[in-house]
Formats: sequence, C-alpha cells, structure tokens
Amino acid sequence: WTAVNHFQFPHLFPPSRPYHAAIEHAFKNSIDKGLEDISVAPSQGKFLAIQCQIIGAKHVLEIGTLGAYSTIWMASVSPDIRITTIEIDPHIAEIARENISFAGLDDRIEVFVGAALDVLPQLDAEIEQGKREKYDFSFIDADKENALPYFKWVVEHTVKKGVIYIDNIVRKGLLANAELAKTDPIVQGIRMAVEGVGKDDRVDAVVLQTVGEKNYDGFLMAMVM
Ligand code: SAM
Repeated sequence: WTAVNHFQFPHLFPPSRPYHAAIEHAFKNSIDKGLEDISVAPSQGKFLAIQCQIIGAKHVLEIGTLGAYSTIWMASVSPDIRITTIEIDPHIAEIARENISFAGLDDRIEVFVGAALDVLPQLDAEIEQGKREKYDFSFIDADKENALPYFKWVVEHTVKKGVIYIDNIVRKGLLANAELAKTDPIVQGIRMAVEGVGKDDRVDAVVLQTVGEKNYDGFLMAMVM
C-alpha cells in the first residue's frame, strides 16, 4: 500500500503544484516540533481538497487541527475557501499557526483553541447573529468518543448539499468489533457515530474503507439532504 502511494503521489502532486512547499513544510515542521504523525496521509489530504473543489466549498469547518496539514490541503484549492479549525491544545495550535503563516493562509484560516464542545456554541451564536456563515464542508478529526455529538452539531449548521466527513471510523476494522466496544471508548465512539448517522434522516451517508501509509482505515462521508 505504501509503495503504491510512493509511486503515484509524486506524479499527481509534483513540486510545481501550488502550495506544494507549504504542504511539505506543514508536515515536516509538525514532526520536527514533536507532534504525533497522525495527520491525514498525503493522498487523503488531496482527496479532501478535491472534494472541496467539487462542491465549490466556501465555508469549511475542521474539528481537530493538529499541525493544520489537512487544513492547508483544503484551503489550497481555492482562494474562496475560508476555514474554521478547532484545536484543544494551545501548544499544538501554535505550531498549526506557524504552518498556516508559512503557507500565507492566515487571512483564510481561523484557529480556535479549546475543546470543540466548548467552541462550537460560540460559533453557533455567531451563526445565529449572522456574523458567520453555515458550513458547506466539514472534516471531523478529533477525539472519536465525541464523533457523534460533533456530527449532530455540524448537521444543524450545514447547508443543504453540504458534506461532512468523519475520519478514522474504520480503525483497522475495529468498527466491527462488538466485543471491544464493551470496554473501549474509542470503539464505542466510532460505532455510535455510524449508528447515529444512520438514524439521521437529514443525511445520506456511506463509510469508505481505505489503505495506505497510514494503514487500513476509512472515513464516513455524509451529504445533508
Ligand atoms: N486533521 C489533522 C490533520 O489531518 O492534519 C489531524 C488531527 S489529529 C488526528 C486530532 C487533533 O484533535 C489533535 O491535534 C488533538 O489535540 C485534537 N483534539 C483532541 N480532542 C479534541 C477536542 N475535544 N477538541 C478539539 N480538538 C481536539
């Protein structure tokens, strides 16, 4: 899987592409500064970016910033995209801001520091007051225990035909492990997310399994109807 990605990716994202240096920098600087290597893989970052392009996304929400690697990917595809991203750890958020500045994207990416469940009500108030738009594309990539509460908030604040991703929902197949779900809060979280999304008539959703340098995983993608 890794060898296939190492072959295909440099052909499809050569150094001549816009934001190539910024994306490489975001990854390397994050690792150099001690962040965990848990960002999306390059192909996944590019996949998210192309999805944003397909739907003509303008207002993107990300829950779980880390070093803003996925954030910079999504912002890279259009000058019309503005991103709100939420990171719980102030030190990590500082590194994300460094990477965003290096990419020249400070004016289009807003980093909120705090637990997402505390930050989302602030955004809610601003959307209600008309100071902030609803979202057309969201990427949920933080603590899996809260994947369903995040999803529920995001659905309420997404325009029709908007798209919502929840990352790492398959986790090497753990999604299907009912036994582990009795004790493991992460497995409980991803299973509850799939069950909860399935009961929500406002969306149509699918889980897509993926392989690559980040092993066997997958994401849930939902469209608001
Ligand atoms: N989206 C990033 C990327 O692909 O480049 C990776 C995000 S990483 C998997 C998850 C991030 O979510 C971590 O930086 C972690 O500190 C943050 N996080 C964890 N719990 C959170 C919470 N309750 N609220 C906001 N962020 C949280």
